[in-house]
Amino acid sequence: MTGRIFVLIGPSGVGKTTLAERAQRDGVADRVVTCTTRAPRPHETPGQDYYFLSLDEFEKRERNGDFVENEWIHGNRYGVLVRDLSRAVESGRTAVISLGYGGAQRVKQLWPQQVTIVGVLPPSSESLRVRLQGRGTKDDEMAVRLQAIDDESQRVHALADVIVVNDEFTTAYQQLYQWLFHGPTPKSSPDR
Ligand code: ADP
Repeated sequence: MTGRIFVLIGPSGVGKTTLAERAQRDGVADRVVTCTTRAPRPHETPGQDYYFLSLDEFEKRERNGDFVENEWIHGNRYGVLVRDLSRAVESGRTAVISLGYGGAQRVKQLWPQQVTIVGVLPPSSESLRVRLQGRGTKDDEMAVRLQAIDDESQRVHALADVIVVNDEFTTAYQQLYQWLFHGPTPKSSPDR
């Protein structure tokens, strides 16, 4: 039995991590830990939230071809080990992971039958600005991020199998939960 991987894509700050962590906490999806060269935030546990690697370590793994994704996102490198996704597929379980666009595309190419790309979009640029402010994002960084939103939205629509708008969190999460639990396409069977 092969597993399923739900890959969350969307602009930074849109709520991908929050959605994924909630699903993991509720036990409907496993976690695939991501490598990053960014510094840990105070609440984060190495090896559980991310594998925090130095740039040297990251580049060594990159040269080995260990990553399914190795992207620069806002000045840091992020990568997911092919090995860890392979294990998720072989586990026969459901995993949820947040990836960059290149990574999402590659994972879909590697496991087209097992992977569902979920595009997560904000209700508006304004609400995203408020959220980024809420987590202490600097003004100049914010301007760059907001400028990128329109382009990103188009990209998300092009790549995603399904789209969820993360306006009211509970509503967005219920939608994701349904997909994780029952699969991304509505069941046609009348008894479901
Ligand atoms: P991403 O992983 O896409 O960068 P996060 O999951 O880290 O985004 O979310 C960014 C911030 O937005 C967090 O502080 C989170 O609590 C908050 N957030 C997530 N979803 C919602 C929502 N529906 N409404 C308000 N705030 C949200």
